[in-house]
Amino acid sequence: LGLDPDEFGIDADDPGAAELPPAPVLAVVGRPNVGKSTLVNRLIGRREAVVQDVPGVTRDRVAYDALWNGRRFVVVDTGGWEPDATGLQAAVAAQAEYAMRTADAVLLVVDATVGATATEEAAAKVLLRSQRPVLLAATKVDDDRLLADVADLWRLGLGEPHPVSGLHGRGSGDLLDKILQVLPETPRDDVGTGGGGPRRVALIGKPNVGKSSLLNRVAGEERSVVHDVAGTTVDPVDSLVELDGEIWRFVDTAGLRKRVKNAIGMEYYASLRTQAAIEAAEVALVLLDASQPVTEQDQRVISMVEEAGRALVIVFNKWDLVDEDRRLAMKRELERDFVRVRWAEHVNISALTGRSVHKIAPYMRRALESWDKRISTGVLNSWIGEVVAANPPPVRGGKQPKILFATQPRTRPPTFVLFTTGFLEAGYRRFLERRLREDFGFPGSPIRISVRVRE
Ligand code: GDP
Ligand code: GDP
Repeated sequence: LGLDPDEFGIDADDPGAAELPPAPVLAVVGRPNVGKSTLVNRLIGRREAVVQDVPGVTRDRVAYDALWNGRRFVVVDTGGWEPDATGLQAAVAAQAEYAMRTADAVLLVVDATVGATATEEAAAKVLLRSQRPVLLAATKVDDDRLLADVADLWRLGLGEPHPVSGLHGRGSGDLLDKILQVLPETPRDDVGTGGGGPRRVALIGKPNVGKSSLLNRVAGEERSVVHDVAGTTVDPVDSLVELDGEIWRFVDTAGLRKRVKNAIGMEYYASLRTQAAIEAAEVALVLLDASQPVTEQDQRVISMVEEAGRALVIVFNKWDLVDEDRRLAMKRELERDFVRVRWAEHVNISALTGRSVHKIAPYMRRALESWDKRISTGVLNSWIGEVVAANPPPVRGGKQPKILFATQPRTRPPTFVLFTTGFLEAGYRRFLERRLREDFGFPGSPIRISVRVRE
């Protein structure tokens, strides 16, 4: 047809079609200027290295596809920012922590002309706790003269240092072979397919809304650092928490525990953490400060959850500070700012007094139930038949699109595909989503509807 589906606000993506399987992820970490980007460009086989030579230039964290010996993997360059000198150690440690959370293997890059600094030692310490394979690359080894310095890197305890020159390519084939040896064939921990164990919760929200207070309230010091339960292994950065008679796995809570808390305060890391926690979780608890007006930052966090397709519970904390005026103002804010997530449920609590904290678990269960829910094809098609008969799709270009068939190929979140004879306007798809929710519920979960045009 030569039409751009995006122009019509249509998601032409077909969840039923054969897709490339997800590829395992290698995260590259290291201090600024050690040569990460140059090495990444080499690993992904890009000839002209796009490297910024200006110190202090910030590059965004990016993911590249790589192919070596017929195997596909993804390289994530986590570097790029330049924190001030005092924050460097914490920053690189946070970067390593993030890499561990999100990748299948981690590559620590050290500049062989400089050797291992205190920063690399701090990063190595974090990575030693990792349950993922960790590789060590000594880069800028353009010739043999540096090999003695490379051997010194054994002391980091991360195994054999691999000498490589990102600039000239020396040693990069060996490094790639090694990377493929340690990367699993398929990515670990595919959230979308589940995998048993306690359900994973992201406790998120902008600074000072009371995340640490809530975690301490529900976990208690000892419980929050329990690592094992009934045969499940849990990352040390997670906390197992008992709520309402059930164990939940709060992911990425290391930064919320007291000691670590003020070490890393920069907004950039806060947002990386939030993103990593959402990705690792099935349901997100977004905390808002009920005593203050809703801000753009609050909305941004909520959008991140929606876009990632996770179940969502909105928690208004500090309810002990809310008076009648504030309550009314909040009602207006909800109507104005939360239109996009009208499907999300709210619970009002006080982490300080403990009020209503016990109500959180039932909301999470309900949201997860929606997130897992599947409607049978038969029920779906008789439903769509009735809805369309009463409200047919608007005519486009003189033709009325027909909906031939509907199915729900996926859950987590529920995803519906409509097979049609023509494009459906975004407005009509929103109408269908509204009706789906009216008739089948799905409180607490985003849902996706995509349209597939049959010619
Ligand atoms: P990043 O900040 O860790 O991503 O580092 P870059 O990849 O931007 O490299 C920092 C500087 O080191 C640049 O000036 C590069 O040209 C230089 N560099 C990177 N890799 C090599 C290498 O293998 N050999 C030499 N001699 N210089 C390199
Ligand atoms: P985080 O940055 O989101 O982890 O927030 P914190 O847990 O550190 O809390 C920030 C501040 O809000 C602290 O001074 C807490 O004592 C206070 N706080 C947290 N929860 C409540 C609450 O329910 N009521 C009141 N009044 N204060 C709270």
